[in-house]
Amino acid sequence: MADLPSLWTHEPHDVLVFKPGEKVADIDAGSTPGFTGSKGDAPDLQDERNERFAGLQEMLYAGSREGDTRSVLLVLQGMDTAGKGGIVKHVVGAGNPQGIRYSSFGVPTEEERKHDYLWRIRKALPTAGQVGVFDRSHYEDVLAVRVHDLVPPEVWGARYDEINAFEKELVEAGTIIVKVAMFVSLKEQKKRLSKRLDRPDKYWKYNPGDIDERLLWPAYQEAYQAVLDKTSTDYAPWHVVPCDRKWYSRLAITELLIEALKTLDLSWPPASFDVEAEKKRLKDA
Ligand code: ATP
Repeated sequence: MADLPSLWTHEPHDVLVFKPGEKVADIDAGSTPGFTGSKGDAPDLQDERNERFAGLQEMLYAGSREGDTRSVLLVLQGMDTAGKGGIVKHVVGAGNPQGIRYSSFGVPTEEERKHDYLWRIRKALPTAGQVGVFDRSHYEDVLAVRVHDLVPPEVWGARYDEINAFEKELVEAGTIIVKVAMFVSLKEQKKRLSKRLDRPDKYWKYNPGDIDERLLWPAYQEAYQAVLDKTSTDYAPWHVVPCDRKWYSRLAITELLIEALKTLDLSWPPASFDVEAEKKRLKDA
């Protein structure tokens, strides 16, 4: 806990990690688990923790220049308006873009449909030293695909084990996977969608299909429950993040990233040259 701001009672990982038996229907999207501060505390704290994240992220990137092959993958899943874009912009955006790999996954293209569902995912994985961000992910293939009956149940049903095996392979190859399920309430979603319709600068975020998806909320809840129950593993657990308060979800996910990076026990690569000699050379140059 040494590095954790005092406004957290517990490591966010410990409070937010999915616990077996936990029910999606019981999630209070307006809650702020583990955080004792208020909205007023958030801006300064977010700035401070963004800096901490950026420092660690740059250290990961720097290490890769010296041969460290490890990476981090942040998987963001959530219903429309849960705030995935805000995490990308306000949390991951604090990092050095040289070491960030952002990928979003929409309805598969014609090219993508010719391949296995993990094909486009594999192509987008972070390489050595990168923090990869998946804005939606392979989980769409057991969420949207399941809810919309896009393939037979035996096909999507087999995917949970396939995904677990795929993620195990990634972890064994040196990627830390931080999986975040972002939960917004129906009420808050309505507010956010209506804001998009009221503001011309938000039209680009609005998609008429969002309302159709909203009407399928119970089916999505069931599909999210199955994802959490079947794919929360000890090597790649899910975190359940309440998202009705954006300031909370951003702080929480920042901490999840910091915690993940800290487990890598990173340090700045030492100079591969004689520092004093180089200082002298520069002085005379
Ligand atoms: P977002 O809603 O994530 O902010 P957006 O509205 O701009 O993004 P896209 O990113 O183009 O939309 O596509 C998102 C949509 O694609 C979602 O409705 C999602 O469920 C759907 N989708 C993603 N992957 C798949 C998949 N494998 N099969 C079917 N639909 C998918």
